[in-house]
Amino acid sequence: MTNPIALVTRGDAVVAAEWSAALAAALPEETILPFRAMSAEQRQLADIAIVANPDPADVAALPQLAWVQSLWAGVERLVGELGPGAPPIVRLVDPELSRAMAEAVLAWTLYLQRDMPAYARQQRQRIWQALPYRPPSQVRIGLLGLGALGTAAAEILLRAGFPVAGWSRSGQALTGIETTTGSDGLAHLLTRSDIVVCLLPLTAETRGLLGAANIARMKPGASLINFARGPIVVTSDLIAALDAGHLAHAVLDVFDAEPLASSSALWDHPRVTVLPHISAPTNRASAAGIVADHVRRYRRSGVLPHAVDRARGY
Ligand code: NAP
Repeated sequence: MTNPIALVTRGDAVVAAEWSAALAAALPEETILPFRAMSAEQRQLADIAIVANPDPADVAALPQLAWVQSLWAGVERLVGELGPGAPPIVRLVDPELSRAMAEAVLAWTLYLQRDMPAYARQQRQRIWQALPYRPPSQVRIGLLGLGALGTAAAEILLRAGFPVAGWSRSGQALTGIETTTGSDGLAHLLTRSDIVVCLLPLTAETRGLLGAANIARMKPGASLINFARGPIVVTSDLIAALDAGHLAHAVLDVFDAEPLASSSALWDHPRVTVLPHISAPTNRASAAGIVADHVRRYRRSGVLPHAVDRARGY
């Protein structure tokens, strides 16, 4: 008999039960137990933990873990909370998540390209006025981050006719798009892009990256879409740039604190679209299938799935 797998989450009980059911369906041959329901002996034997916002003390109470499988794509909180001594952390890379994110990037890129925020303002003021039409070919998109999500976004934007440039750490080439790297590459991309889309992980290097200095490098009249993590953007600097008319609009799905406080100035800002962290919802069935593949390969071969690089933070 194989060792039990611990499901560790401090999320609400209904969500935990839904994950339990999805994982049990994807891995019927495994014994997957909520951490709280495990006996002392089962905790001692568990060699894999599947986690969603776990209490770090619960993970630390599983001494034989070979690896920790996150059910989320972004793992900055997990990496920080589990600390350097924790077992390898594997994050969720799911083609369905990438597809949903690419769809969201395209949707809100079209929203900006077709001037929907401006037409909504005009409607409220009963103004009947056509704004100059910009075809996709004249709207340059700058993608910050060309990983699982950024690559899928680049592909869908190219298919829709937008010129796309991308910025990453390695500068790895991608067919059809100009890629840049380093601070010069970032400045180049910001200066030229009409819409900047942020799909970076939150790390020590990316925290506060889009503050006053880099926002000032953005093209006058450009817009920002942040679908990655709130603290990558310095909110007060963004609001200042919108108020000054330097930037046209910001579409924000992620914030420093979530849910966004009802007192936040972002809610009422005429040049901000607030979304409640919905750009790429996790699909439980497909995520459970990806986790099942990892577990089965590990059981068969003893090979750990690809883990997060703790030093880089993603
Ligand atoms: P990923 O595959 O790890 O890709 C990250 C990309 O960012 C890579 O291209 C990487 O460069 C680049 N990068 C990292 N640090 C950098 C730096 N300092 N300078 C320049 N480029 C840097 O991550 P992913 O799966 O695409 O996900 C990205 C983020 O999206 C997640 O971390 C998560 O926070 C967020 N997310 C949000 C939602 C939502 O619903 N809003 C849903 C899922 C995920 P290299 O290619 O050179 O490594």
